[in-house]
Amino acid sequence: MRRIMTMTSQSRLASVRSAITAAASKAGRQEVTLIAVSKTFDAADIQPVIDAGQRVFGENRVQEAQGKWPALRAASLPSIELHLIGPLQSNKAADAVALFDAIHTIDRLKIAAAIASEMKRQNREPMLFIQVNTGREPQKSGVMPDEVDAFLRAVTNDYGLTISGLMCIPPVDEDPQEHFELLAEIAKRNGLSQLSMGMSGDFESAIACGATHVRVGSAIFGHR
Ligand SMILES: *Cc1c(COP(=O)(O)O)cnc(C)c1O
Repeated sequence: MRRIMTMTSQSRLASVRSAITAAASKAGRQEVTLIAVSKTFDAADIQPVIDAGQRVFGENRVQEAQGKWPALRAASLPSIELHLIGPLQSNKAADAVALFDAIHTIDRLKIAAAIASEMKRQNREPMLFIQVNTGREPQKSGVMPDEVDAFLRAVTNDYGLTISGLMCIPPVDEDPQEHFELLAEIAKRNGLSQLSMGMSGDFESAIACGATHVRVGSAIFGHR
């Protein structure tokens, strides 16, 4: 059983990679980072994907990531790059800064302040993204599109954070492309170069709109 799953995730990874390469070259782009989203999958499911050469992974919960990544990481060379793509509570800021190389979900001043103080304390500098609620969905995290410019100024000037880019999760029932275009536009007017957008169902469209980081889970690991 495990053998079959292993082969499946490795061959799925290969097809996702070639689809990314094709979409990037069609868009006239050099490099798109594939973040393999391993949330809910355990070490036995993740190891074959590491063995296939994948080095960048995403998790959406700090505690879950703490449970499985230190051991996986210790056994992997070249080293693993870990991205936090899920919502962050300020009481988890210390653990998040200690474990992750990138945090995609800065969306409140309180979180920005907690991250800034932990970065100083731990002398760590994860790459940072602001999450934008492009669909203005009340239940979803993220800064509202028309508040991003002011939020970016505040976290930069007041907390000294260096923000690399923006991240979004489009509403499930809408064409994602308009959300990708909106995110790209907000990033451009703020001089931000990195765009974290696109998941299993829409990463090619995201790349066409300028994604630099795509977050792909089920297309690699299978259904959760
Ligand atoms: C789970 C998750 C993904 C990956 O979703 P898939 O549809 O499985 O590719 C991407 N981004 C975020 C924020 C997620 O929580």
